Amino acid sequence: MSFSKLGLSQPLLDAINEVGYQKPTTIQTKAIPIVLKGSNLIAAAQTGTGKTASFVLPILERLSAGQTERKKRARAIILTPTRELALQVNQSIEAYAQFTSIKSMAMFGGVDYAPQKQALIDGVDIVVATPGRLIDLYGQRAIHFDEVETLVLDEADKMLDMGFIEAINKIIARVPEDAQSLLFSATLSNPVRDLAKSAIDNPEEIAITKHSASKSNIKQWIVTVDKDMKSSLLSHLLQQNQWKQALIFIETKHGAAKLVSQLEKRGIAAEAFHSGRNQKVRQQLIESFKAGEIQYLVATGVAARGIDIENLPVVINYDLPYPADEYVHRIGRTGRADAVGEAVSLVSKDNFKNLCMIESRLGHLLERVEFEGFVPRKPVPISILNYVPKHKRGEER
Ligand code: AMP
Repeated sequence: MSFSKLGLSQPLLDAINEVGYQKPTTIQTKAIPIVLKGSNLIAAAQTGTGKTASFVLPILERLSAGQTERKKRARAIILTPTRELALQVNQSIEAYAQFTSIKSMAMFGGVDYAPQKQALIDGVDIVVATPGRLIDLYGQRAIHFDEVETLVLDEADKMLDMGFIEAINKIIARVPEDAQSLLFSATLSNPVRDLAKSAIDNPEEIAITKHSASKSNIKQWIVTVDKDMKSSLLSHLLQQNQWKQALIFIETKHGAAKLVSQLEKRGIAAEAFHSGRNQKVRQQLIESFKAGEIQYLVATGVAARGIDIENLPVVINYDLPYPADEYVHRIGRTGRADAVGEAVSLVSKDNFKNLCMIESRLGHLLERVEFEGFVPRKPVPISILNYVPKHKRGEER
């Protein structure tokens, strides 16, 4: 299958060529024709599968084919859970729309209203927004929804986790009833299905199966270690492997700052990325990391969604995430679109339940490695697959 067979016009094919994609990914092959014909869609797909282009390209096609005279009102809205993802989706739009006249913007909270309002006054076709700021600007009458032709809920599961349901429902209630609705989510959990049921009429449904969620181009392994030895093991791993770059996930802000200073003491320069740092700093950190100026970024889960680094060789879980789906999102930061990547997790005995949940979710055990000098005094037992946490037992029956 090639992009030219999918019904996209020349300016988009030229942009795809410029960006360097050879052929569509599975989700793109499945979703693009559905979105192009104007149908509603629910798609279960992880990040890293090429899902952004799977909705952006057909939206651009539809918008370019329609109205050519700029009405200065938003014609497509894409909702995302985080600022980082909003910026990233907007960057993708700019790349794919470079040979069209379509304009887009990213809109999110924590920054000045003025530039966003000005952009709306100048006129944008596509608004990529976090729900809170969008509803805020709608309340201020800075944006109108009456010309919206397509609404996308991107990473719907994450938006629900983050408590955006009220804002999302307000937005859904205010866009024209006949607007096309597209929902993308890593998992189609019950709350996501409920949202889809209430918001999306007669959707077509596609799923990139659970199996391909555990991507084979990512070499996943765990190192068992005692908790108090994790930071020296990490230093050892970084020094030994000399990865060009590494994204290191940790649970808390405080933990991130502490780890950065522990690494520094061992002569390893790293930066901490977490919600306690202001938006400008976070943006700069991402830019520098993308440009390769930062080798090691220690990040809390807030970064798991938005960061898209070409050729990131490794993701390290300093802490194992909870829930298991979060693990899949995190490791999806490496091995993007068929590149090869590694995902290493440092696992101590107190992470055992999380490990069981993750390995059950993947459907297989992860390769285990021990390092001389770091062999745990408290061994980590072998996981029980099909593990169901205590508080969920009974629900399955
Ligand atoms: P996403 O799942 O949208 O976050 O995309 C993951 C990565 O895949 C991004 O870096 C995209 O630039 C890249 N990508 C998307 N579509 C393709 C494609 N058809 N071929 C190669 N890379 C792609």
